[in-house]
Amino acid sequence: MKKEKTKKEKKLGPGVCDFCGEEQPLCYICTNCGFTICQRCFIEHQKLFTRTGVTWLCINCSSWHTL
Ligand SMILES: [Zn+2]
Ligand SMILES: [Zn+2]
Repeated sequence: MKKEKTKKEKKLGPGVCDFCGEEQPLCYICTNCGFTICQRCFIEHQKLFTRTGVTWLCINCSSWHTL
């Protein structure tokens, strides 16, 4: 018997933003440390997180993620 374990890593979903502290339906979530940033804060502070629009930087653990 083979049991398949599927680990789903959420990248985009609802969460509590670590920036504004508000619950938002659409947040970017760092799969490395769990840092959560809502879309609103992300756009507002775009320069902090992304330069290319393809990847974003987690300011908590300094890891890059694809958008
Ligand atoms: Zn926010
Ligand atoms: Zn992180």
